[in-house]
Amino acid sequence: MQSSKFAAAGALLAALLFGLPVSAAPRNVIIFVADGLRSHSVTPETAPALAAVRRDGVDFANSHSLYPTVTTPNSSAIATGHLLADTGDFGNNIFVDKPFPPPFGSALAGIEDDDMQAQMNGRYEGNYLGEMTLLQAARAKGFATAAIGKHGPTALQDVTSRDGLGTIEIDDDTGGRDGGHGIPLRPEITAALKAAGLENLPPDRGLNAGGGAYNMPGPLVANVEQQNWLVGVATKVLLPRFKAEGKPFVLVFWSRDPDGTQHNEGDSLNELTPGINGPTSKAAIRNASNDLQALRDSLKALGLEDNTDIVVTADHGFSTMSRQSPGSAAAKFAYRDVKPGFLPQGFLDIDMARALKLPLNDAAGFLIRPEKGSYPKRGSLLGRDPKHPQIAIAPNGGTNLIYLPGLNAKTLAPKVVRFLTGQDYVGAIFVNDALGDISGALPMSKIGLIGSARTPQPSIVVSFKSWSTGCADPEMCGVEIADSGQQQGQGIHGSFGRQDTHNFMAAIGPDFKTGFVDPAPVSNADWAHTLAHILGLELKPRGHALGRVMTEALTDGGAAPEFHAVTVRSEPAANGFITVLNAQEAGGETYFDAAGMPGRTLGLKP
Ligand SMILES: [Zn+2]
Repeated sequence: MQSSKFAAAGALLAALLFGLPVSAAPRNVIIFVADGLRSHSVTPETAPALAAVRRDGVDFANSHSLYPTVTTPNSSAIATGHLLADTGDFGNNIFVDKPFPPPFGSALAGIEDDDMQAQMNGRYEGNYLGEMTLLQAARAKGFATAAIGKHGPTALQDVTSRDGLGTIEIDDDTGGRDGGHGIPLRPEITAALKAAGLENLPPDRGLNAGGGAYNMPGPLVANVEQQNWLVGVATKVLLPRFKAEGKPFVLVFWSRDPDGTQHNEGDSLNELTPGINGPTSKAAIRNASNDLQALRDSLKALGLEDNTDIVVTADHGFSTMSRQSPGSAAAKFAYRDVKPGFLPQGFLDIDMARALKLPLNDAAGFLIRPEKGSYPKRGSLLGRDPKHPQIAIAPNGGTNLIYLPGLNAKTLAPKVVRFLTGQDYVGAIFVNDALGDISGALPMSKIGLIGSARTPQPSIVVSFKSWSTGCADPEMCGVEIADSGQQQGQGIHGSFGRQDTHNFMAAIGPDFKTGFVDPAPVSNADWAHTLAHILGLELKPRGHALGRVMTEALTDGGAAPEFHAVTVRSEPAANGFITVLNAQEAGGETYFDAAGMPGRTLGLKP
């Protein structure tokens, strides 16, 4: 009783200090991100805590990951409320014109990394996203803020706060654990970890790390131990600290599971079934669910439950990976660590370099000769001089970002698109509006990729083919071709199939309706606006590609907005290739369901 009185007094004081309405104590918010959680993979059996939030609170059944369906683009949308058009976070791997200094050393930047994000801020006006984040706005209003979990997307939640003094940022790279420098930890937090009986550094992933090889299955365990430590930090250190401070708080918890485990699982080596529906992936979903339950239990024990909204989202959905494509020339060479006849990483790069008769260099600028058994692993730079490539390719799983940085981009683009329309693994093609209309492709502006981005815009975006293995719910057995290190049968994402765009979204708490299924389309760009509305924060947008407030989900909101489906079709290419886009319009926003060539894209209605 005593402690809840103090909390109320603290809330009142905070309300007076920060100009919030005194009538209601400022809310607290927990944003729980279950990385790579498919909407339909949550059941009361596999994930009781996740299912309970969806059942008892708001079920966002018509939810959307932003395309490309990979982590940092969606993290940027969750953080800022903007589409990628504005945040410029077009993929986990992007081309940045000029190399960063060592140890990065390439113009192809992997931005799912704390240290790289600092480099990016240094190059792009102090904030490469170009937009204020929800945590930054909350911090400015006197909220306590913390982001904890998987490194990369976690630090991105308050992208300009990198000294450890603003938002408390703790991830699996804290203390340089994962090879970087991480975000520094305040001495008082280190002391609090010790006092709580926690190790001062996160444990590594142990047996969950590593993905095996083409002849060796990956792990059969979820990322339990590492996430237990992170949950311990949240429940034994951060939440009690917030309570003691008497300040309202916003806490982001980014669960690496099920993503990391679905990528690595050893349930299905070289086979498409069970793929990511085996026992190891199910254990990872349960792991995320258990972590959410631990946070809810802690809120309850601390008396914070009644004044805390919990939103649960996933950055993207997931697929099982296929490495087979009969038409690819790249699959016909022999590689030391690739199953004979299967696609190597960089297969599109290899095929394109041959078709366009351009030298192929890897991300570091070394010449790649597939006929001698080499292939590019982190993207490619095509052309005679890798320092000034004609084409740069940034792999993002089920999507490749293609950049044409030379002066001949306008003459080269139609040749690249013609090549792409002839490949059996290509699902959808989008071309930068600045390069004009090209048959077979849709303009990038149609999918929210043209805006105020500070980073270089891709010239061409390619989604790979996806399909289902034929189970009752196609979204639950999606398969896709992808350019990444996973083996066939392991998990991947990034494509424009509905199995990748249909992420899990749900919310519960004093501001959310109860037992409500929201029929309207929503996306990861809507969270920041909805939460800013609840918390009375101002986000001060710079760009115009914004999400909306999901008012229909709120207790003080009305009915769901009108929404309707739209389909956009490209002109057919000479060989008949066509890109079709299924979208929905609601509340002035457009939501992207699926896009691609009919028959090559899961969930696409032609
Ligand atoms: Zn992933």
